[in-house]
Amino acid sequence: MLDTSIMEKLRVLTESAKYDVSCASSGTQTKNKGGLGNATAAGICHTWAADGRCVSLLKTLLTNDCIFDCAYCANRSSNDIKRVSFTAEEIATIVVEFYRRNYIEGLFLSSAIEVNPNATTEKIIQTLKLLRNRERFYGYIHVKAIPGADPELIRQAGELADRMSVNIELPTEESLRILAPQKNVQKLLLPMAQIKKGIDEVNEDRGKYKFAAKFVPAGQSTQMIVGATRDSDRSILFAAENLYKNFSLKRVYYSAYVPVNAGANLPAIQTAPPLLREHRLYQADWLLRYYKFEAKELLTEQEMNFDLDFDPKMNWAFRNLDRFPIEINTADYGLLLRIPGVGVQSARRIMHQRKISPIKYEDLKKLGIVMKRAKYFIVCGGKFFGERNLEVEGLKRIMNPKPMYEQLSLFNLTKEVPYPLGGRNLLPKPVEVGSPTDGQAKLGLGRVIF
Ligand code: SF4
Repeated sequence: MLDTSIMEKLRVLTESAKYDVSCASSGTQTKNKGGLGNATAAGICHTWAADGRCVSLLKTLLTNDCIFDCAYCANRSSNDIKRVSFTAEEIATIVVEFYRRNYIEGLFLSSAIEVNPNATTEKIIQTLKLLRNRERFYGYIHVKAIPGADPELIRQAGELADRMSVNIELPTEESLRILAPQKNVQKLLLPMAQIKKGIDEVNEDRGKYKFAAKFVPAGQSTQMIVGATRDSDRSILFAAENLYKNFSLKRVYYSAYVPVNAGANLPAIQTAPPLLREHRLYQADWLLRYYKFEAKELLTEQEMNFDLDFDPKMNWAFRNLDRFPIEINTADYGLLLRIPGVGVQSARRIMHQRKISPIKYEDLKKLGIVMKRAKYFIVCGGKFFGERNLEVEGLKRIMNPKPMYEQLSLFNLTKEVPYPLGGRNLLPKPVEVGSPTDGQAKLGLGRVIF
């Protein structure tokens, strides 16, 4: 049985950790209704292993007692909140106890900066050593690399953790200067560069030696906040592309900003988190990683933000209608990936099927193509099967038929919230009273406080 004070720390620190999405968290909503167990209270989230397995993690901060004062953060030093810190021993005990009870398979350990970056990183290493060396815990562990920590400490943490992440938080130097003046881009990129170098060296050694040491085997990730500043989707996507290219990140996570603090440089406290904008950035990120798109193709200087009515690939197709329709039987793999409604799997199936026999229109659905989108952009065996010619406005009406009239409610007491820094309110009308929980946010069920 865990000590009550440890349970209280767990409650506070798992609550504080919920804004960090850099572990692919999908905060569970299973509540205890008088039965056994309560995953929500224990801060259990999930991530996906390289082999596709879903792994449950204990997601917690080591401490919320921060010396920094980042404007957007609930744990900033100027906030009057309950401050607690785990000892390394306490975290190791919780992880082992939870693991034995089958609640979790791993740990996601983030932290505020307590005392200084070195002291915090030393405590993270101490926790890792207890878990790996004393408890012989070989489950998945993701830890934060604290910017400003000594490279030797980052190296030690990297040898014990599976994944590390440095949260870049904002895409430009200017935004960091305004909202997190104690951080700077160089300080954030330094540990990222060190982790990349470490991973590259180990990969090289693996080719030469049978028993090469391990270093961050599951790679590194980062998180960017969306909507806390005026930064456009274009700056966020360009920053993400650079991070993928220069630091071989496994993932960039985008986190719709939930206003937790009031401040002159922040969106109003009632502002809804820009969940749809976050969703569009995830779609665009997918296009960068798997569809061979470049950021500059998806957003231009004339179009700095994604159209919220259409996904980024459809939008790209609208801007490049002169490249369509594409012949399914002759287009190369890269071109097939550009067709709306054709995914990576269906493009591969098309390539495979074409080696056996020419593809007929009736085959396309069986190959996994979403025909209601794709048919306007393809020809099959020289024939076009869309009901109308390619023309942007007509296609937009077909792809996103909007109702002409909206049912008004006598009881709709909510109102649109101005969005002072993000430029626009990116959500549909607020729908309910209350603040969004993590799980609701992920499901697109954001709520607004009035
Ligand atoms: S350093 Fe991290 S925990 Fe501390 S205020 Fe900034 S974002 Fe929050």
